[in-house]
Amino acid sequence: MSWEVVIGLEVHVQLNTASKLFSGSKLSTGAAPNTQASLVDLGLPGTLPVVNREAVRKAALFGLAINADICRHSIFERKNYFYPDLPKGYQTTQLAEPVVGAGTVEIQLENGEKKIVRIHHAHLEEDAGKSLHEDFHGMTGIDLNRAGTPLIEIVSEPDMANAEEAVAFARKLHAIVTSIGICDGDMSQGNMRFDVNISVRKPGEPLGTRTETKNLNSFRFMEKAIALEVERQIDVLEDGGEIVQETRLYNGDTHTARSMRSKEDANDYRYFPCPDLLPVAITDADIEELKAAMPELPDSRKARFINDYQLSEYDADLLSGSIATAAFFEAAAKAGGDAKLAANWVMGELAAKLNAEEKDIADSPVSAEQLGQLIARLKDGTISSKIAKQVFEACWAGEGNPDDIIEAKGLKQMSDTGELEKIVDDIIANNAAQVDDYRNSDDAKKKKKIGFFVGQAMKATQGKANPQQLNQLLREKLG
Ligand code: ADP
Ligand code: MG
Repeated sequence: MSWEVVIGLEVHVQLNTASKLFSGSKLSTGAAPNTQASLVDLGLPGTLPVVNREAVRKAALFGLAINADICRHSIFERKNYFYPDLPKGYQTTQLAEPVVGAGTVEIQLENGEKKIVRIHHAHLEEDAGKSLHEDFHGMTGIDLNRAGTPLIEIVSEPDMANAEEAVAFARKLHAIVTSIGICDGDMSQGNMRFDVNISVRKPGEPLGTRTETKNLNSFRFMEKAIALEVERQIDVLEDGGEIVQETRLYNGDTHTARSMRSKEDANDYRYFPCPDLLPVAITDADIEELKAAMPELPDSRKARFINDYQLSEYDADLLSGSIATAAFFEAAAKAGGDAKLAANWVMGELAAKLNAEEKDIADSPVSAEQLGQLIARLKDGTISSKIAKQVFEACWAGEGNPDDIIEAKGLKQMSDTGELEKIVDDIIANNAAQVDDYRNSDDAKKKKKIGFFVGQAMKATQGKANPQQLNQLLREKLG
């Protein structure tokens, strides 16, 4: 019997508030170490934290976005542990009464199926500082600029069964938090970090012992780290060994992982309510206000794309997943007058090019308006799809707008039938053997064999022959 994989995610989302969770200092902007941390962030004796209203508001907005219960009365607790980047000796977080209770997130799978992933809860907490190892020989530097940065930690139920589902879930969370504007979503900067809990079991058995692979900060690494850990666990179990509950670190550069520490239990942290902070009260009026201010969510955007542009579920899901991609697609569809073509180009040629050059869609050298112009020329038959790729490349390289490129390079499809007719006549005259062969074939074979003549004509016209006209001419002349 084969193994069943069980995955649950813990996701840290950095809230884009103006100031920290409990102090007035600005969030770190990469300034010199320890210049953006206040006495409160360091937890020095005599200081008193004050909850940032905006952070609570953003956490609650997230809760509403996943249809969760919002806790009307939530409290902060101290999670006690010592670590060099946490000099105050505790992290202020939430345990018993988090702001956001149980909710749900729907994910779309490539095979067209959908799945609900349950959210156990999401809580507010502060981030710790950073240990710096480069530039310090035989020592560790401590930078506390990040200390006190507001985070929400989103904890899923162990509802995912493979890497595809885990990545789809992670992407969906990314889409939600960026759509509602509570996080910048720059994963390379650690704005969103994923801890992946993984276990395996035989079907029908209780959940196996899990490991947690921490701080994955790209979807690609997440996929690879899951594959690696699943394989490791199965190997251990099939060799008669046992899985140890532990925290692991994945190295994307070497595609290896190592154990970081065995996992502590909650009671090792000696949680207790923070005596310096009042409970947070959220009223019905607060909730009504948040609901009224809710931006368009990825699911409604997806439904709108299916409805307005007749896209498939999967295409609509991909295009609605990021606000930037969604806006680009809609602008290109509008400018080009064809949503299906726009969808194909954004997910196809454009995505491939952006991927290859590791660029964000926001930095695309081809603008949505330019792509729209290209689509319009395809649609009105000025250029063929083959030429369109050439025009796209030139536009990407900064050679101007598609219309100018088509003009300057003489890429218009040959629509003058007289000219095309002459080319076809030449080809027929110069390829007597192929013409005989074609004429002696049955209809099914003819369909295939006409390809030779089409190819010759495209070669002679540098791909500019209008395919429909060419096909028609050839069929007429070949008989
Ligand atoms: P802790 O309190 O020790 O962090 P939780 O029970 O809250 O543990 O679970 C933390 C995360 O681990 C959750 O995302 C949960 O879905 C996931 N998880 C729990 N048990 C398993 C398991 N057996 N296999 C995979 N994931 C699991
Ligand atoms: Mg946990």
